[in-house]
Amino acid sequence: MPEKKIDKAVEALFSGARMLSIHCAECRGPLFEKDGKVFCPTCGVRGGEAPDEGLEGTLRRKLEELKARLETEKDHEQLMRTLKEIDALVEVLRKLRST
Ligand SMILES: [Zn+2]
Repeated sequence: MPEKKIDKAVEALFSGARMLSIHCAECRGPLFEKDGKVFCPTCGVRGGEAPDEGLEGTLRRKLEELKARLETEKDHEQLMRTLKEIDALVEVLRKLRST
């Protein structure tokens, strides 16, 4: 971990936040929880309700995995299947946001 990240993490701990075992989807740094809110001290991203990463977080992580698979996939059939999975995930994410 770069020094800056550690600084911010220590700062969060001193402010009374609790370090969680889950990581920020943006910077991969550890997420913290304070007053029932999850946040990333490194990039300032505020998550949902803690201590769960939430459905959206899970979906986003899944989407990243699929994206990585898409980049390396050579087989056309597999590629189409992966695209369909991504399409379904994006659809769910959109529904989550509209509620
Ligand atoms: Zn972050």
